[in-house]
Amino acid sequence: MKTYESVVIGGGPAGITAALYLLRAGIQMAWVEKLSPGGQVLLTEKIDNYPGFPDGIKGYELVDLFTAHLEGFEYDKLGDEVEEIRSLDNRFEIKLSEQTIMADSAIVTTGADWKKLDVPGESKFNGRGVSYCALCDGNFFKDQEVACIGGGDTALEESLYLTKLVKKVYLIHRRDAFRGSKIYQDKVLNNPKIEILYNTVVREFSGEKDLEGLKLENVQTGNESDLEVQGAFVFIGLVPAAPALPPLVETDRQGFIKTDTEMRTSLPGLFAAGDIRSKLCRQISTAVGEGATAAHNTQIYLEQTG
Ligand SMILES: Cc1cc2nc3c(=O)[nH]c(=O)nc-3n(C[C@H](O)[C@H](O)[C@H](O)COP(=O)(O)OP(=O)(O)OC[C@H]3O[C@@H](n4cnc5c(N)ncnc54)[C@H](O)[C@@H]3O)c2cc1C
Repeated sequence: MKTYESVVIGGGPAGITAALYLLRAGIQMAWVEKLSPGGQVLLTEKIDNYPGFPDGIKGYELVDLFTAHLEGFEYDKLGDEVEEIRSLDNRFEIKLSEQTIMADSAIVTTGADWKKLDVPGESKFNGRGVSYCALCDGNFFKDQEVACIGGGDTALEESLYLTKLVKKVYLIHRRDAFRGSKIYQDKVLNNPKIEILYNTVVREFSGEKDLEGLKLENVQTGNESDLEVQGAFVFIGLVPAAPALPPLVETDRQGFIKTDTEMRTSLPGLFAAGDIRSKLCRQISTAVGEGATAAHNTQIYLEQTG
């Protein structure tokens, strides 16, 4: 069984940066990515908030630039899925779908997936009006009318954020009261730019090429209606994309990995970075910074234990 000093799991911005820093530190490593490198950035039409690109950059172009940085280094690039990480005698046994490898340390950067409503039109208009990130895409809807779907803290916070950019926000919630914190509820209820549609669910995202509106249903009366909007933000939660982890690794209630500020998990030698971490700000810039931090602390860990 092949043994590495470190294994980076995941090939999004956090994983690419972690790999870059490990390689520059001369650490013998493998990099495992189940799809093409790039992660969620590949799903992003245009990125407007990554420093260095004042005119914005297309997602795939940024990924090309990120991965170009890894050229010329020697490492094992494994196109496979990590199914399980086990902790054995201060080492990690990493079970891929086609082989098992060992490592002295590992960095988990497997990201997160936005929960989908799973109604007609949602995937067709993803990136063409349907979004899961106000911070990322809010600017595309300046002075237009948008809908936010959800009733937790994220839906309330992001609706408030969007009111600074857009003309009007319709906040669509399937129940008659919000789950989110009282402080956000008060702000939302008092914001003249937000109109709340309680007891309402989205049945369809509609339009020709781009999103033009939503088909809604009131769950109490059964009444159906159409709502004209140019953007729709779905905030019904995030799910972590972690492989099976050793039981000693602490996670939050949703399963995101808890770390300290140095990206150390509760299990020595195992680090986590990017969207898979328990945190609030899930962005490319934060993923990149955390990938660098995790790699730097991996280097320190290997020096101290090697
Ligand atoms: C539509 C959309 C638009 C966005 N727009 C912006 C924006 O404009 N600006 C911004 O800053 N952020 C934006 N984001 C958020 C940003 O893309 C993420 O915060 C960032 O990509 C997180 O990086 P990451 O490396 O932590 O995880 P990810 O990008 O999720 O990468 C994780 C990688 O791990 C791989 N993986 C998962 N599980 C396994 C496994 N078991 N084994 C092997 N590999 C695995 C996945 O295939 C994936 O490639 C957007 C996100 C989306 C979805």
